[in-house]
Amino acid sequence: MVNNCAQTITAASYLLGVLRPAERDEYGRHADTCVYCRRELAELAPATRALASVKDDGSFAVQ
Ligand SMILES: [Zn+2]
Repeated sequence: MVNNCAQTITAASYLLGVLRPAERDEYGRHADTCVYCRRELAELAPATRALASVKDDGSFAVQ
């Protein structure tokens, strides 16, 4: 896949909830307007949900 936005590397961290609040807000605003990040988020969401589901200690939650 051709990737035209350097910030797509942040998508997985965003979905996993490991960004600092300021970073999360900033990336959220960026993703609202970036087609590449929106696509990356859409592609990663099922995988991050699957990762979260194998964690049974409830230490972190994924949307
Ligand atoms: Zn982007």
